[in-house]
Amino acid sequence: QGDLERERLTRLRHTPAVTLDGQKIELLANIEMPEDTKTAMQVGAVGVGLFRSEFLFMGRQGHLPDEEEQYDAYRRAVEGMAGLPVTIRTVDVGADKPLDEARHDAAHLNPALGLRAIRWSLADPDMFLNQLRAILRAAAHGRVNLLIPMLAHASEIKQTLALVEQAQRDLDHRGMAYGSVQLGAMIEIPAAALSLRLFLHHFDFLSIGTNDLIQYTLAIDRADESVAHLYDPLHPAVLKLVADTISECHRQGKSVSVCGEMAGDVTLTRLLLGLGLRSFSMHPSQVLAVKQQILRADASKLKAWAQDILNSEDPAEKMG
Ligand code: PEP
Ligand code: MG
Repeated sequence: QGDLERERLTRLRHTPAVTLDGQKIELLANIEMPEDTKTAMQVGAVGVGLFRSEFLFMGRQGHLPDEEEQYDAYRRAVEGMAGLPVTIRTVDVGADKPLDEARHDAAHLNPALGLRAIRWSLADPDMFLNQLRAILRAAAHGRVNLLIPMLAHASEIKQTLALVEQAQRDLDHRGMAYGSVQLGAMIEIPAAALSLRLFLHHFDFLSIGTNDLIQYTLAIDRADESVAHLYDPLHPAVLKLVADTISECHRQGKSVSVCGEMAGDVTLTRLLLGLGLRSFSMHPSQVLAVKQQILRADASKLKAWAQDILNSEDPAEKMG
């Protein structure tokens, strides 16, 4: 990106993200720390679609942040967005995001298939309750969505929802203020994308984590360079899971976004629009370039084209 191009993009900051045929598109930011909301606001994101809360937990030699410290961080993120919604994902440590670099998970053969994300949270309910209470308390200061990573099983969903209720009861008991939240699940395990009825029965919205969805669908370790050439967002199986998730959410009137790298890839914007996606969450540095794609796109015309890509044997080739 040259200086001139960057300057041209910067002028799009306040331009609403609307396609040529008048479809409003929601462009959200992925953040790792409360301070990142500044950049998110600067690029004109209309909310945070993914606050990766694990960055508050990592590199602390096991001294995890307590409820107060987390509450403070989440509240700062909410205030930083000045009334725009903030989607806080509960801690997603393990595999490529170890708690401590030095203690990289060597004891388990397949850490990506091990005790990570919601599995790790459910293994330590007291720790998880600290986080849930902190998030609910931050929701008293603005619009907060609560997003759960890596769910696959009905039992995990039920345990999670029971703990959210427990956290609310705890706060009632203490007489502390908290806000209501929209509850969302990440779709990042193929089993989840194939059980949408279960997920939509329990959740208000879904967010497609394509980074992990690709990894688990294609059995490609996303952190392993030696198989990086096989990591393919355009594999027909990946596209089918993404497309089905979007359309089932539409059918049921629930919101859905993509928050994996695919959402910030300008070569995929038109395809995702054609598959019906209307909410994209990405690194702040990608927001303006994606907006430029959206301003040039005619979503209704992209629909048939996207179906063709979806049904082809070699989508990458067909995309040209
Ligand atoms: C994803 O898996 O696509 C995602 C957004 O989560 P993370 O990259 O943090 O695993
Ligand atoms: Mg993920």
